[in-house]
Amino acid sequence: MSLHTSFSRSYAEARQKFLDAARAAGATLADFPHPTRRGSAGEALAMDVAWAGDAQARRVLLVTSGVHGVEGYCGSGAQVALLGDAALLAACAAAGVALMMVHAVNPYGFSHLRRVNEDNVDLNRNFMDFTKPLPENAPYAEIAPLLLPEQWPPSEADQAALMQSVMERGLPWYQAAVSAGQYHAPDGMFFGGHQATWSNYTLRRILARYGAGRDALRWLDLHTGLGPWGYGEPIYMGPDQPAPIGRARAIWGSNVTSIYDGSSTSAALSGMAWLAVPETLPTLDYSGIALEFGTLPVTEVLEALRGDHWLHLHPEADEGQRDLIRQAMWHAFYGDADDWREGVVEQVREAAVKALAGW
Ligand SMILES: [Zn+2]
Repeated sequence: MSLHTSFSRSYAEARQKFLDAARAAGATLADFPHPTRRGSAGEALAMDVAWAGDAQARRVLLVTSGVHGVEGYCGSGAQVALLGDAALLAACAAAGVALMMVHAVNPYGFSHLRRVNEDNVDLNRNFMDFTKPLPENAPYAEIAPLLLPEQWPPSEADQAALMQSVMERGLPWYQAAVSAGQYHAPDGMFFGGHQATWSNYTLRRILARYGAGRDALRWLDLHTGLGPWGYGEPIYMGPDQPAPIGRARAIWGSNVTSIYDGSSTSAALSGMAWLAVPETLPTLDYSGIALEFGTLPVTEVLEALRGDHWLHLHPEADEGQRDLIRQAMWHAFYGDADDWREGVVEQVREAAVKALAGW
């Protein structure tokens, strides 16, 4: 399969390509069907796991796609390309590493072109201890009425009021207010949930089933929507401690950024999915990064997300408006161009090769 045909334009197509590529690579497959929801074309939804390599391998390289639903068009294409890469599979085998892929961690959002899941939850804010008090996000509450006005697109007056507060407080304040995560508005943006979602506990089940008894795990979690066009920013995924941050930089390079020291384009977040690793497999030697592929400027990405959430709040919107909003989501989270796709595969492959040497 050539690079360009690794990528898909629907969840069903992406899933089929992933399953075909996994079988062609001799991988073992398992599916974790969504218990209640269907895709946008009525298709079945599932998290699919492919395991390529020795079933008894002590070391595992995990590559995940679609934690943020619609971002899975990028991640799935890279997964399919890697499964078709005989040289990479041989390098994994030579290093005693099994290559494990989880396709569509949030299959509902993948199919419906949403970043959030079936519960309007941002999965990368959902890995919280829900028995404890949840973080407050007062800035989000302050600008929420401007983010999600009554009409869409917003009136000039609404847009001007939002721009005014962004200019007063600065773009980093705006990005953090919107995207850091909030736990009080279930229909709002970047909502972290009030309980563990299906994707959360299913990913934990998968980690427990495949990770138990192993020595080490390296994780590449594929995302889109932040940073310069086509650049895959390696963002550290682990605790705010110097030793594991240094470890990730030793494996993937000094350009690995961190949300803890302001070096990343991402705001500081709570409830990220990597927390499932130490909680599920506390003795495992773990290191991981997200690769965050840039698409459009951050203000345009946030605008697409505002439209998406407006639509969630206004299911009565007509078909023309729905299409415009979905198209904006597609372009905000997928670089629909050959150079972008080529760059994605190249950078994911490079990160995978680095992981094979970093134990
Ligand atoms: Zn993401």
